[in-house]
Amino acid sequence: MFFFLMADNRQAELFPEIPVPAGTLFASVLPFDGGGNAYTYRVPEAMAVSLSAGMLVRVPLGRRKVLGIVWDFPAACEEAIAARAKAILEFLYPFPVLAADEIDLCRWLSAYYACSLNSVINTVIPLVVREGVRPLLEHRLSLVAPFETEVFEKLSRRAKKQAELYRRLAQSPEAVLRNTLPYSAVVVNALVKSGLVRQETAPVSRVAYADSLAGTRERGKAAFDLNEEQRSALAAIATSLDERVYRTHLLFGVTGSGKTEVYIEAIRKVLAEGGSAIFLVPEVALTPQTVERLRSRLDDCGTQTVVWHSHLSSGERFDAWMDMARGNARVLVGARSAIFAPMKNLRLIIVDEEHEPSFKQGETPFYHGRDLAVYRASKCGAVCVLGSATPSIESFSNALNGKYVLNRIANRVDAHPLPQVSIVDMRREILNMRGQTTFSRTMLKAIRERLDGHEQCILFLNRRGYSRALICPDCGYVATCPHCSAPLTFHRHDRTLRCHLCGYIQAAISQCPQCKSESIKKRGYGTQRAEEILRDAFPQARIRRLDGDTMSKKNEFREILAQFRNGDIDILLGTQMIAKGLDFPRVTLAGIIDADLSLHIPDFRAAERTFQLLVQVSGRAGRGDLDGEVIVQTFTPFAAPIQYAKEGDYEGFVEEELQKRREFNYPPSSHLIRHLFRSEDEALLERTVEAWKDFVDKNAPGLCAFKGPCPCTIEKLQDFYRWHLFYVCDRVTPVVATVSELRSRFPWPKGVIEIIDVDAVESM
Ligand code: ADP
Ligand code: ZN
Ligand code: ZN
Repeated sequence: MFFFLMADNRQAELFPEIPVPAGTLFASVLPFDGGGNAYTYRVPEAMAVSLSAGMLVRVPLGRRKVLGIVWDFPAACEEAIAARAKAILEFLYPFPVLAADEIDLCRWLSAYYACSLNSVINTVIPLVVREGVRPLLEHRLSLVAPFETEVFEKLSRRAKKQAELYRRLAQSPEAVLRNTLPYSAVVVNALVKSGLVRQETAPVSRVAYADSLAGTRERGKAAFDLNEEQRSALAAIATSLDERVYRTHLLFGVTGSGKTEVYIEAIRKVLAEGGSAIFLVPEVALTPQTVERLRSRLDDCGTQTVVWHSHLSSGERFDAWMDMARGNARVLVGARSAIFAPMKNLRLIIVDEEHEPSFKQGETPFYHGRDLAVYRASKCGAVCVLGSATPSIESFSNALNGKYVLNRIANRVDAHPLPQVSIVDMRREILNMRGQTTFSRTMLKAIRERLDGHEQCILFLNRRGYSRALICPDCGYVATCPHCSAPLTFHRHDRTLRCHLCGYIQAAISQCPQCKSESIKKRGYGTQRAEEILRDAFPQARIRRLDGDTMSKKNEFREILAQFRNGDIDILLGTQMIAKGLDFPRVTLAGIIDADLSLHIPDFRAAERTFQLLVQVSGRAGRGDLDGEVIVQTFTPFAAPIQYAKEGDYEGFVEEELQKRREFNYPPSSHLIRHLFRSEDEALLERTVEAWKDFVDKNAPGLCAFKGPCPCTIEKLQDFYRWHLFYVCDRVTPVVATVSELRSRFPWPKGVIEIIDVDAVESM
């Protein structure tokens, strides 16, 4: 692993004042505020045996002393550089804070996603670790007094976990490292508080660090056996794990088919063999159920299940990171950034709901958590499992062409049928509607039946607020945001107009500012308006709304879900956040109020998104013993995604969609790189973008095909005009390399900001 630079005699002659002794070891170190460049440093002899790549070190940089990461150990080093190299001052922790494969991962991220190493490091390593100022503490637990059966039995009756821990500590002759025990802080603290257990805290020795193996208890079991389909999916994954080579499995299982159980069993296998696993979910805040389930099923595996999310305190973040880096914590559940966990011996990466766009980061570096999962697995010989009831077209196409192994689960657990889907043609329906035009008679009748039968409904409308827009029927004026090219949305409860893109708020108007007409009207509808109509129609029903507006109140989301679970809510109405992974057995009706909303956005993935949405929403109905029904309202009942979703025909849909993608050379037939340009000066922006395109054409003829340049769908956002240009190519890296090089030479005018989004998911 270490390379030694043999200094020859000439060097001593050239630089007599700083002789470099033969056998000196050099390391290249990437300082955190060194502009993304790595510099060469000398490794003091005393450090030579302990230092390894990925370690956090302090180095001199100019007149400062800064922290950085040991990047690698160059095999050769220019004499002039060697002679001038300063020595590394110290390392902060006696182990790497990046896993062995992550240095390469960082390099690849930077090259593939066209961003600086600096921004990559800032994304990969949490701030609290980069600051490196926290002492690393260790907590050791031991019994205060010898084990007493009576105490144990008393504990067993009221607190089983505490009793287990009490017995576990009794079995160890020495104090046990707290973070190697699979018990939550609550359990440990309760025992400490009761005076039965002593906790001693001391800094970790920086000289030596010994991994300690946690004791294992008997294997915990699920309340049921896996069914045939689950077993064969698990067997396929287990085979790949046993082969110890990289492989990606696409677990294509209908909603409620028991995919999560398959993941859990695969994780258990990896843990039992001493490996570690990362479990990615679209958004941790929306999946407390999954996290609970994982924790309870894995707590006997001799390691803790760490959860990574944005609400962690910096102390918790630090501890979690260090526990993983040292191999004490071997399972992590988290959203996309959890893919950077410094797991040692990483053998399994699971991406649940792999089709979700939220795995893509919406800022630099614009990485895709799922794609990174596949890449990382391929580099460390791990197994990657992508799971979904509606796989992304990209992943399914990879399964079809043999890059991924396809595992199917075609039936729901207990062979429960998928719900019946009926489509309401709103073109006809609207002729018979009076007053409100939100709910068809079919939908109202179905809701009524559920209320009478004490069953529950989930109604889905992907648009917040009360009415879409304020429109003047006399002159055609539409109230728009002064900072964005978007209509304002009317919010009834405080009579405001709000911009859903930038958050701009103004008081609602009753008179047209253009022609002074008093007959200004609200057009369209949102979740608030829908709620009001429901309350009028079903005054007795208990109705709750769940959307971005209610979400802003902390905990309200969880409370509403808990009430719904308890049966204290009859109708849950919300935006797409309620379409994700929720599992409520008494829901027998899922209603989609306007399927056209996602269908008619100008994005080549609109059909795919609509199909996924319809299927996922359908998956919320009929999960218990009762049969479910799905009602879809649409003005375009014959659109392909709606028809295929009605039949539950995923493969039919994919076949037709893939054909279209090929025809227009969209992914997965190509890669799309989006170059986004912004400026407050519209004319300057247009001139610059055209000039840039000419510059690329001239300097790199035939580099790739283009789409654009043209204004974005959202032409103006927060006072900035927006244009984009798409590079269409087969292979990303050469195009990114050329574009990056040209970008650094192009005379960008002041006031124009440009960013590159590789494999863009967002194109508005
Ligand atoms: P998915 O992840 O595919 O949507 P889940 O894993 O959440 O499905 O399973 C749906 C429900 O069925 C859960 O409540 C789970 O506990 C239960 N379940 C899963 N596998 C089985 C099985 N083999 N036998 C009985 N119940 C199961
Ligand atoms: Zn007007
Ligand atoms: Zn706005």
